[in-house]
Amino acid sequence: MRLANKTALITGGNSGIGLATARLFVQEGAKVAITGRNQATLEAAAKELGANALAIVADATDVAAMEAAVAQAAQKFGKLDIVFANAGIPGQTPLGGTTLAAFEQVIRTNLTAVFFTVQAAVPHLNDGASVILNGSVISMLGNPGYSAYAASKGGVRAMARVMAAELSPRGIRVNVVAPGAIRTPIWGAATATPEAEKAFEARIALSTPLRGLGEPDHISKTVLFLASDDSAHVQGQELFVDGGATALPAGAPIYRGQSPRQ
Ligand code: NAP
Repeated sequence: MRLANKTALITGGNSGIGLATARLFVQEGAKVAITGRNQATLEAAAKELGANALAIVADATDVAAMEAAVAQAAQKFGKLDIVFANAGIPGQTPLGGTTLAAFEQVIRTNLTAVFFTVQAAVPHLNDGASVILNGSVISMLGNPGYSAYAASKGGVRAMARVMAAELSPRGIRVNVVAPGAIRTPIWGAATATPEAEKAFEARIALSTPLRGLGEPDHISKTVLFLASDDSAHVQGQELFVDGGATALPAGAPIYRGQSPRQ
């Protein structure tokens, strides 16, 4: 039990990476509050997770709702030891085809809401707590159509370092987990049918040195490391969990067998 007697808050804990992390945290002995907007999936998640979970409907972009959610979690389970600011949305924002509203929605959800989630949590954190923010390889890759998403996740990396500096006097750590492509509902139509998912997996596999799509538990296990005392001296870091996609693109299958150019 790596999280015995620990209390955690996970935003977006009703789906994908957040739900996988909530499951693992409960298995490891934590009491876990999860938030999201969708009441039905929150209730289903809470039922599955059992008595050590609390589901709270809270839109992460609503500052007052997040302040109330964090207070409710702390009231039920005690002060927080772990915050995983995970809630996020995708969103295409290509040059030439993007409205201000679409761009701002991605930034508001993936960047601004992450700041205000952490700000809401700070008064309810135990000294020595661990805060983990969810980043993305897309902050590094220059994928066409992803300006707002890439900017939001690059902003998360930059912001984490500042937060870590501000919270170090209390022994609170702030780190980022940066997933590669992971099998979750976030991919929408790209993975909605078995045929679409197969084609998508094949495309991701070409550019990923290790396997193709990652699984939610590749991320949840890394978040567990960052949340637990095993990472006690890790501060202000970003850990890429992407099968090597950002660190060694030339090791990907698409390049294998090609002789290097001088
Ligand atoms: P997902 O299954 O679609 O989960 C997204 C979660 O965020 C849901 O629980 C959703 O709950 C919540 N959420 C979205 N907007 C919200 C809001 N305004 N307020 C509260 N909750 C909100 O996708 P996922 O892949 O697990 O994504 C989780 C995080 O991982 C995101 O930050 C994403 O950018 C990041 N990530 C994912 C991948 C990947 O390939 N899957 C790669 C890199 C990074 P409700 O719908 O109920 O609000």
